[in-house]
Amino acid sequence: MKKIALLLIPFLVIVALSFKSYDNSSIKSASVCDSLNISSQEHLMMSVLWYQRSAEMKALYYQCYNMAKMIVDNKLKENKAVTKNAVVLDIDETVLDNSPYEAWMIDKSFPYSVKTWKIWTKAAIAKPTPGVVEFLNYIKSKGVEAFYVSNREIDERDATLKNMINEKIPFADSIHILLKNNSSNKTDRYKSIEKKYKIILTIGDNLRDYNEIFGNRKNNYGLNMADSLKNQFGESFVILPNPMYGDWEKAIYNGKFPSEVEKNKIRRAALQPYKE
Ligand SMILES: [Mg+2]
Repeated sequence: MKKIALLLIPFLVIVALSFKSYDNSSIKSASVCDSLNISSQEHLMMSVLWYQRSAEMKALYYQCYNMAKMIVDNKLKENKAVTKNAVVLDIDETVLDNSPYEAWMIDKSFPYSVKTWKIWTKAAIAKPTPGVVEFLNYIKSKGVEAFYVSNREIDERDATLKNMINEKIPFADSIHILLKNNSSNKTDRYKSIEKKYKIILTIGDNLRDYNEIFGNRKNNYGLNMADSLKNQFGESFVILPNPMYGDWEKAIYNGKFPSEVEKNKIRRAALQPYKE
């Protein structure tokens, strides 16, 4: 065992030397393979390109918001009660498109950090996702209110409001935007809405936006839980596509926060190739 460990030392030294450190306002980063000029965030390349450059992404968002309209119409026919109706939406990758921040991470070879994320959100320049503004105006015309339940933090409130108002997103005000206050669990915020409203539909890009059980995917990446709730998708929840990040990615790292090199190994190990 000791021999193996000794043999590994030169390899580990080479790996360590292959990392290039950047220092930009104390934000540290590392390049996985400098000789090929590959970013430490290179693994995001295809998902960000798909999100920004594929007509399929646009079509899928339009499809989801078209479906959401139909669901609202059906629920309004069913719910003749006096209770006010509400649709709950997540913000990031549901209402606002943050893919320019993801592209920036690849370009600068910086992993995600709260500090760089907040520089992006403070700029308040995110564009709405395809179809969302039309959908929100539609439900507003039907007397349904939208609530935005997001895990952006309280100190991002002003910039988030500014961004949404600039993009003419309905219900962009302090009453309808509920940001993270201590817990990223959204259940209590949903309950506070349900004191006055009937939530007829929830929309998000992360299954945890719908049900907190998806915060724990230690058992088979949460795939079995998705199976068990299959009849609720397209009924009480509309899931939007986000291949760039989410609780699905955390599940691959088993809830841990490994180094970028470790993450690369874990991702590779999680693949399911066919056996020749
Ligand atoms: Mg989101």
